[in-house]
Amino acid sequence: MTSTLISGGVVIDTSPEPTVIGTADVLVRDGRIAAVGPDLTTESGTEVIDATGRLVLPGFVDTHRHTWQAGLHGALIDDTLAGYLDRVIGGFAPLFQPEDVYAGTLAGALECLDSGITTIVDWSHIQHTPGHTDANIAALQAAGIRAVFGYAYGGDGGADGLLAEAKRVRGAVSGLVSMAMAAFGPEFGDLERALNEWRVARELDLPVTAHMGGHGAETAERGLAFLEEHGIADHPTTYVHANYYTDEHLKRIAGHGGTVSVSPVTETELVIGYPITGRALAAGIPTSLSGDSVIAGAADMFGMMRAAYMLERVRPDGAGLGFTTRDVLRLATIEGAQVAGLGDVTGSLTPGKQADLVLLRTDTLNVAPAHDPIAAATLFADTSAVDTVMVAGHVVKRDGRLVDHDLQTVLENLTTSATRITTA
Ligand SMILES: [Zn+2]
Repeated sequence: MTSTLISGGVVIDTSPEPTVIGTADVLVRDGRIAAVGPDLTTESGTEVIDATGRLVLPGFVDTHRHTWQAGLHGALIDDTLAGYLDRVIGGFAPLFQPEDVYAGTLAGALECLDSGITTIVDWSHIQHTPGHTDANIAALQAAGIRAVFGYAYGGDGGADGLLAEAKRVRGAVSGLVSMAMAAFGPEFGDLERALNEWRVARELDLPVTAHMGGHGAETAERGLAFLEEHGIADHPTTYVHANYYTDEHLKRIAGHGGTVSVSPVTETELVIGYPITGRALAAGIPTSLSGDSVIAGAADMFGMMRAAYMLERVRPDGAGLGFTTRDVLRLATIEGAQVAGLGDVTGSLTPGKQADLVLLRTDTLNVAPAHDPIAAATLFADTSAVDTVMVAGHVVKRDGRLVDHDLQTVLENLTTSATRITTA
């Protein structure tokens, strides 16, 4: 048995609602949260991490991230969704070889861990061949992040090929990596393919994540109606973006048990649509935050939380004034875990859950003296505050540095790969 005591930090738990517990210890045993409270007693041999001057909270959860794009930081600036689809999906993506997928996904996953995101839904539409898929999974496992591998089948959409490859992928993920069906869905035209995606997901008991409702009012209505007409809307599905759904659509999605992933930064940068955070919550839909892509701007959770908070607060007629820092922290942690299908695994400090934790510095000029710990974590801290990060009880970042990887090599491989692709 291995145990670690995180001692003397200001602890914030997030379930059922974000709450400041105060100065306390967190005891981790065999990778799980064993206890939270003041002055915990420990067995001999317990490693102690001094968290004095730190906030201790659950790691962040990003529910939709195209992790393979990590080498494309700033490759599409001052542009729109149409430009993204043309230049990134139409131009760069076909050039990716398996080694590029590995380099991008590894660097992207480490970027997440470095900034306190301990769980991602890796929405991966770069599966040109099984070799690409294997490289993607290997990079996630090498990174040491908790990941739901959102598998977007790269074949022609036929049911047999999709089923066979999805089965193979399901057998290839293990440990911290699990699987979802990343569906191209009914809004991109090929309805037979969309139907196959949901049917295979149902057969293999995989949740679905799909970009829906973010391409205009007409396609939003048509896509949702398609799922309902074919009797697949009740399958566990995350609606990514969802900007153009009316409140009536959102009520229908809530009734189907659907969830929402809001990307407040890219939805504004790429002018996809106004983020629906508050409207989704008002409809009773489990709602979460996501980074989407780093092509047009940073995708760390601090930026996402601030964008979601600000965009909600400024809604017309005061409609978003009830949205608080506690709400945005809940979306970034426990509600994100629920949307990712991992609500029983991570997202809070509940004893028995996996020990996915982040320690944030408060002894800095931009945070001290942290009068309100939840505001410190959501509105004041940035990635430079991330001092220590733990995934499943394993310390992946300590004293401000990732510990398991040669970052110079990771960055050299990323730069070599991305330069080849963007200058081709
Ligand atoms: Zn996306």
